[in-house]
Amino acid sequence: MKKDIFDFDYNELVNEFSKLGLEKYRVDQVLDWIFQKKVFNFDGMTNLSKENRTVLDERFSISIPSLLDMQVSNIDKTTKFLWRLEDGNTIESVLLFHPDRVTACISSQVGCPAKCVFCATGQSGFVRDLKAGEIVSQVVAMEAQRRVNIGNIVYMGMGEPLLNYEEVLKSIRILHNEKTKNMSMRRISVSTVGIPEKIIQLADDLPEVKLAISLHAPNNYKRDMIVPMNRKYSVEEIVYAAKEYQKRTKNRVTFEYILIREFNDSRDDAEKLADLLKGMGAYVNLIPVNPVDNVENLKLERPHYWAVDRFKEVLDKRNIENEIRKEKGTDIDAACGQLRRRNVK
Ligand code: SF4
Repeated sequence: MKKDIFDFDYNELVNEFSKLGLEKYRVDQVLDWIFQKKVFNFDGMTNLSKENRTVLDERFSISIPSLLDMQVSNIDKTTKFLWRLEDGNTIESVLLFHPDRVTACISSQVGCPAKCVFCATGQSGFVRDLKAGEIVSQVVAMEAQRRVNIGNIVYMGMGEPLLNYEEVLKSIRILHNEKTKNMSMRRISVSTVGIPEKIIQLADDLPEVKLAISLHAPNNYKRDMIVPMNRKYSVEEIVYAAKEYQKRTKNRVTFEYILIREFNDSRDDAEKLADLLKGMGAYVNLIPVNPVDNVENLKLERPHYWAVDRFKEVLDKRNIENEIRKEKGTDIDAACGQLRRRNVK
């Protein structure tokens, strides 16, 4: 069986090539064809001899996922991709266009075991972890499809990245390598519902990578209702881990907070959140909920605009830096898991 070239980091690839009698600079050439020129078959790599191309083709695949669906927003160019993997499973990735950069939001698992109630992916169940190569190839495939140079990467698509820790770490190291995507670690962000021991491990393993924590509620009672994983790791444990991460890395932590009408959007909720984060120098992203159909026992309605403003005012007064996240791709199925859910049903 052929091995997926995206699954190897640079040193592993040098080793693999040397077993075939190919020098290190051949690795550089192949990576240049794939990552810069977006050539995904060995036959098109014309600075390699025919013989070398045949040998490589016998041993390796270049597993770019196949595009099943793509939606492009007419409003802001946000582009959502639905990919089919080699084994037939499907995943999503999103490109977000900002004036000065393009951000890729990528998936780390097929489905997600975290089951957050406001998330279409969580509601669809968990299938499997992605391999490092399947994470890396999303970035390459999106660049090839839309002819862009991705400047930021967020692990915020389908899946809980810290539950697929080793493969996520490997994918970051691959994307960071100067012979591949050459992506600065500081432009990579991992978003988690909060696995305390992994947050601390990340601080030690990749201290330059940024961290975002999906908190969404200021206490365990409310958080238990929308983020079932909270029953395992409490709000206090997560905030403690975030402080420890900050101490070790000197990076500011971002907290994501989905605002749900009359559930977690009151003045009191904002005050409690401020109590929790005070003194941390944290950053809070306020996100009015994107309603998902078929959520049981919980009404997920978008908050009133004045409730969002009120929440923000409390945080401002308490010196917690924050912003109301500007929605992107509102005319397409831009929220995590929606495109897959529509196609897989
Ligand atoms: S929000 Fe993220 S962690 Fe929660 S179920 Fe969805 S994909 Fe998983």
